[in-house]
Amino acid sequence: MNEFMEKKVQFKWHEPKKHYDVVIIGGGGHGLSTAYFLATRHGVTDVAVLERSYIGGGNSGRNTTVIRSNYGIPEAVRFYQRSVELYYQLEAETERWIMHKQKGLLWLAHTEAAVRAEVARAEINTAFGADTEYVTPKQIKEICPEIDLSGGGAWPVIGGSYHPAGSTARHDRVNWALAEGANRRGVHIHQRTAVTGLLMDGDRVTGVETTAGPISAKVVLSAVGGHVTTLAKMAGLRLPIRTHPLQAYVTNHYELTFNPIVASTSLLFYVSQTARGEMLIGAEIDRQPSYSYNSGHHFLQSCSFRAITLLPFLRNLRILRQWTGVCDMSPDYSPIMGKTGVEGFYITTGWGTWGFKAIPAGGEQMAQLIATGQTPEPIAPFSLDRFANDRTLADRGSAGTH
Ligand SMILES: Cc1cc2nc3c(=O)[nH]c(=O)nc-3n(C[C@H](O)[C@H](O)[C@H](O)COP(=O)(O)OP(=O)(O)OC[C@H]3O[C@@H](n4cnc5c(N)ncnc54)[C@H](O)[C@@H]3O)c2cc1C
Repeated sequence: MNEFMEKKVQFKWHEPKKHYDVVIIGGGGHGLSTAYFLATRHGVTDVAVLERSYIGGGNSGRNTTVIRSNYGIPEAVRFYQRSVELYYQLEAETERWIMHKQKGLLWLAHTEAAVRAEVARAEINTAFGADTEYVTPKQIKEICPEIDLSGGGAWPVIGGSYHPAGSTARHDRVNWALAEGANRRGVHIHQRTAVTGLLMDGDRVTGVETTAGPISAKVVLSAVGGHVTTLAKMAGLRLPIRTHPLQAYVTNHYELTFNPIVASTSLLFYVSQTARGEMLIGAEIDRQPSYSYNSGHHFLQSCSFRAITLLPFLRNLRILRQWTGVCDMSPDYSPIMGKTGVEGFYITTGWGTWGFKAIPAGGEQMAQLIATGQTPEPIAPFSLDRFANDRTLADRGSAGTH
């Protein structure tokens, strides 16, 4: 035992049944959260989560753990703000220490256009329930003394926005807290169980083919992260999703003094400090669509160069670990949640590089949809049919990685 371990996760493992009311494909944050909210808010417990690998083995265990709601469009601000609020109460609710920590988030602007964007962001955030304020270079230096405001002479910091609610939480703990909470109430979670096909009755999905045999279900939810294109194809659906790798890395220990999460909108990188003191750094997606989990030296080199430009102390640290996830990128950089037009088959996808923060609200809303059959108002704008109906929710500037 050490400071990062408390009590053991309490879990009951079951043999897969032949039928469940609800089958959720994917034991990442969104699948587990949906199961958790189905069980805790709606008493729906005849639920199986099928995970081909291990719980949180996908992006939900590979991300940089940033939680925020400083988005650029009203629909997104409201939705992510709900998720931020749920994160703040998740520890008390699950009785698990998810290491949630409020840090405050700084988005730095280096051009007049970026300053205008951050002023607008602060206004739209405030109008729709998220707390964000425009900050001057002087205020930025007070919040984060480590920043070189001259940007190495090439990228001077001329303003920014500050989002006090910005926080982080330990990703694997979030996954396991939700898994345990669902499992305690009767949800079955099957690891090493891959879905290989969908059972269909005419146009309706009636269950799944798995490596453990067929399982029928009234409702099937796809929550498979970057693998949704393959999964949806099994139901005859072609989704507007491209899968891109996203890399991140950590340095060795730095004294525990770096408080905020810092991101640069022009230099395209972001940094926070983990509880162990590592500096955790992420940036943009790999340009080439791919399912590859390979990490590359080029990413480390270019991202470190940009990070050091603003945070010179980083040059004295060493890179300890680097890893990659594969992200389900939607064309408008907003998620896709809800019905698919195929009876019995729902999706939660398009979480791209921004879906960790959405885990509680995404699960809450998808659970309500599954339990009631009615699309809840907060996620109605994020439906798949927005692409056919010319109602896309363009919010590229809020991805934090573009
Ligand atoms: C490097 C990196 C940094 C990121 N940083 C942030 C961040 O700071 N903040 C933020 O909000 N978001 C961030 N994200 C994005 C975030 O991690 C994802 O959007 C989110 O975790 C998606 O959750 P999910 O449950 O949809 O998918 P996943 O967590 O990927 O879970 C999907 C699961 O489905 C399983 N699966 C796939 N196919 C099958 C099948 N056929 N049968 C059974 N199971 C299957 C997979 O094994 C996987 O475990 C980051 C992502 C990466 C890669």
